[in-house]
Amino acid sequence: MYFRTIMTLYADVILPVPLNELFTYLVPEALQQLAVEGARVYVPFGKTRRLTGIIVRIHSEKPSAHTIKEILSVLDTDKPSVLPAQLKLMEWMAGYCMCTPGDAMKAALPAGMRPDNGSNDHPYKPRIEIFVKPGKKLTEYSGSDYSTLFSKTAVKQKELLDKYIELSGFKDNPVNPSPVSRKTLADACKSASAMKSLQENGFLDFYELETGRLPQFSGQTEEPQSLSEAQQKAFDGIKECFRNRNVCLLHGVTSSGKTEIYIHLIKEHIAKGGQVLYLLPEIALTTQIMHRLQRVFGDDMCVYHSRCSDNIRVEVWKRLVSDNPYKLILGARSAVFLPLQKLSLVIVDEEHEPSFKQEDPAPRYQGRNTAIMLASLSGARTLLGSATPSIESYTNAMNGKYGLVTLNERFRNIKLPRIEIIDTAELRRKKYMQGLFSPQLIEQVSLALEKGKQAILFHNRRGYSGTVQCPDCGWVQKCDRCDVSLTFHKSTDTATCHYCGRNYKVPSVCPSCGGRNLRSRGFGTERIEEEVQNLFPGVRVARLDLDSAKSGYESIINDFQEGRTDILIGTQMVSKGLDFDKVSVVGIIQADSIISYPDFRATERAFQLMAQVAGRAGRKDEQGTVIIQTRQPDAAVLDMVRRNDYTGFYNEQIEERCAFFYPPYSRLTLVTVKGTDLQKVDRAANALSRNLADYFGRDRVLGPDAPPVSKVQFRHIRRIMIKAGLEQPSASVRAQINEAVSKTASQDGLGGVTFSFDADPQ
Ligand code: ADP
Ligand code: ZN
Ligand code: ZN
Repeated sequence: MYFRTIMTLYADVILPVPLNELFTYLVPEALQQLAVEGARVYVPFGKTRRLTGIIVRIHSEKPSAHTIKEILSVLDTDKPSVLPAQLKLMEWMAGYCMCTPGDAMKAALPAGMRPDNGSNDHPYKPRIEIFVKPGKKLTEYSGSDYSTLFSKTAVKQKELLDKYIELSGFKDNPVNPSPVSRKTLADACKSASAMKSLQENGFLDFYELETGRLPQFSGQTEEPQSLSEAQQKAFDGIKECFRNRNVCLLHGVTSSGKTEIYIHLIKEHIAKGGQVLYLLPEIALTTQIMHRLQRVFGDDMCVYHSRCSDNIRVEVWKRLVSDNPYKLILGARSAVFLPLQKLSLVIVDEEHEPSFKQEDPAPRYQGRNTAIMLASLSGARTLLGSATPSIESYTNAMNGKYGLVTLNERFRNIKLPRIEIIDTAELRRKKYMQGLFSPQLIEQVSLALEKGKQAILFHNRRGYSGTVQCPDCGWVQKCDRCDVSLTFHKSTDTATCHYCGRNYKVPSVCPSCGGRNLRSRGFGTERIEEEVQNLFPGVRVARLDLDSAKSGYESIINDFQEGRTDILIGTQMVSKGLDFDKVSVVGIIQADSIISYPDFRATERAFQLMAQVAGRAGRKDEQGTVIIQTRQPDAAVLDMVRRNDYTGFYNEQIEERCAFFYPPYSRLTLVTVKGTDLQKVDRAANALSRNLADYFGRDRVLGPDAPPVSKVQFRHIRRIMIKAGLEQPSASVRAQINEAVSKTASQDGLGGVTFSFDADPQ
């Protein structure tokens, strides 16, 4: 284009650096064709650094700075890697989450796609495989018998060649045999020297091919199951709702068959040429749902989450910007950043799950809300699904912002489980408890096992016990760096800090008083496992929590599903959407640790968690049983769980939130102040609190206070919460917070103190 080449063009670029701005570079004439919005560019930064950035805007406004550096190269020579909707999403995120554009970019782009001369990240490497093809001699002999060519001693060569001919189908198609990798051939017939001789003698040739790492689905795909009448009604309701609303909430009780409804919707969207993003809160869940989806969508789908290697992420990304993109992405929250050219539907399953929120590092984004924003930027619809919707989403449905579709019956009309609440305090007084188990729970589990059924035991704490404590003086073993009590793990006989991951030995005598009675207080999943083994000898037990997940949650879930284990003990992980056919009993070992948590969302979490755990019981053929053990049998939330009274729970919660001015009636922002010097941190936090009060009013600024864990990695932590009214636009709230922080940070003597933000903390 003549017109473009005579102009001097500049590019505004996002760079992965902790500065709250875009950077402007000159576009050299030779690169003007390639340097377009969304393209990745390699640029100089500072004296020696070279970074990859993304172009957000091309323009001809000369920047005011006097030296403007040039773009070194454009990395996307075919199509830009980043779509317009993604650029907007990053911009929105930087604003909403109060992070830098670079933070958003780092979360979005796999490290392999942003080479950087100073980083330790490994750049993307394509996978090259060596393949075998017929050599000249073999081609000449096609059809005729070549075995005469081998001497009697070359048995191995003959064998290997026969194998190749079999695997490649050379006999039927000598011109175009199927590709066989050298590794496959070598595995089938182990002789490296024979392979070499065959090549030297001109029978076989080798060539390299870029194969990629993306898994292929080998099975046959099937049609989805047909929907029940109730499911069909919900399905129609959702489509009806999407006529005039962008977001629809599907409130369907556990095991009502929501996943099946999603499958039908996905099918429709794909048939019309659209793409679907299916978000799950936890990757541990993807195994089961992946198989269900793969049966229907085969190679049209891919799975994307934080456990995928960076190389795989890059390949998924490349495939998505190609002309043959995946149609369905099943992923954890980070999948919202993928380049989806034809996104038409986003499904957020288990939308209430707190794990949709990214806590650290920045950007501290809520995956569900980000997904809704992405959909609206892409012209797509969002379906939120849950048996226990978040208070926020349900409120949006109540006031008409979202559509609402309700599904009140379980698939096949199986009754929701019978829930029994057991008073462990009383049973303990009467000496009826056996360790952590009430007679009722023992009876129900035994009954289930006798009938060939399975049980799930839930406890929200991993490890063997809570803490190591001295009964004589009260000393508690803590992490040196983090001011947090350690969790004892019996299997390794160590105490672990779950904040920084450091392991400690448990001392044999109390370092404080020299007492010899150190013992563990509280209990975790490991101890439950031990007690189960004593109570039910010979029963096959498995444990699913973050510790065991390291060695492979997939096999744990599979074994339980296939009936190779009888009792599954687990933390939060077992509460999330898992679908087992034969679980007839669910036990919640100690509901107290769920109920008493000092947070305005505690009741919401407790209700959701218990209702979800309970929802794992009796999903396939008959009503299940749930035993909830507690020392507070009269807690109101327990009764609501027992009656599966979502509406009652919602009404009570919303009244409380209104009375205490909590979301959805206000907007919360948490500012965290950190530093190694406690006095400085305190001074900064107090000053910030005063400055914030000037903008928001004293009663709308809470703190500073020290969080339950007030020191992590040697850094002291103070927090301030701002409760802003909904009448104030969120952009203005953020601007005022930023001003108050700048004012504080510019005060003398506060060097080394950092401030970080969390909008809508969970
Ligand atoms: P939810 O997601 O609401 O908890 P699921 O979709 O997991 O429920 O369904 C619960 C169980 O019922 C699953 O095992 C599923 O395979 C089965 N199911 C649901 N709908 C159907 C259907 N239409 N046909 C056959 N099986 C179904
Ligand atoms: Zn620690
Ligand atoms: Zn002591």
